[in-house]
Amino acid sequence: MIRLLLVLIMLSLPAAGQAQELANQLFGAKAAPSDQKPMPIGSYARGCGAGMVELAETGPSWQAMRLSRGRNFGHPVLVEYLQDLSVAAQQIGWAGLYIGDMAQPRGGPMTSGHASHQIGLDADIWMLPPRRLNLSRQERETISSIPVRSADQRSVTENWTPRHQALLKAAASDDRIDRIFVAASVKLEMCKTAKAADKKWLQKIRPVAGHDTHFHVRLKCPKGAKLCETQTPTVSDLSKGGNGCDETLTWWVTDYLNPPKPTKKPKPTEDDAPRKKGPRQFTMADLPKQCAGVLASD
Ligand SMILES: [Zn+2]
Repeated sequence: MIRLLLVLIMLSLPAAGQAQELANQLFGAKAAPSDQKPMPIGSYARGCGAGMVELAETGPSWQAMRLSRGRNFGHPVLVEYLQDLSVAAQQIGWAGLYIGDMAQPRGGPMTSGHASHQIGLDADIWMLPPRRLNLSRQERETISSIPVRSADQRSVTENWTPRHQALLKAAASDDRIDRIFVAASVKLEMCKTAKAADKKWLQKIRPVAGHDTHFHVRLKCPKGAKLCETQTPTVSDLSKGGNGCDETLTWWVTDYLNPPKPTKKPKPTEDDAPRKKGPRQFTMADLPKQCAGVLASD
């Protein structure tokens, strides 16, 4: 009887190990991608990535920055996209691109920073035009990007140039892109200076808080990626089919900065939707079940 009771108590205890451990610690500890077919699993801010690949630390038209973080990984489509965009950057007159955080080798919630960047389809690109593409590892830890948004958040700084705009246009015009996040004043500036007949691409540029020294590219779920969750609302829904150069954009430099009622809660931002539990509190139970397999894979 006592023995049976003990067995019952043991069975009712929470499963030891993984289930209680924080997912960001488990994913953050992985140094290499999983040996699986590429698949983004779940949503940008709640998921992981199977079969991801590393963006070479240095290429003919890019350098990955902050290598110590081990976040230069993504779905193969993201790596291709970044390589293509870095070639476009050269055509625009830059030396190439400095690439910031992509994802951890197996994606998942991050040990620090970003709520998203979890499924290998997000990347941050520095607003700093590369001076050269032979920075040492140490230089890549210490060099900082530059703010293109003013400290009062209302305008762009003198760091902003027509080449930045050309780069963002190239980035947004690519069919692989779902949306790109920038500071609101950056989008306002582009809405102002883009030619009237050539503003369609601005639909994919979305204003969010922060993003003063980088822009954030987010790719669509690749074709046939059944476990990848498409983000809603779409950029078309958000701008009612327009380019988003409207009152929802000016809100960021009016009511957002000077709320009519001080008690009003700030509007949630798209790259970091509100949730009861932050991604750094996620356990494996909060992620799609296939993520356990990504973690356990060779
Ligand atoms: Zn980002």
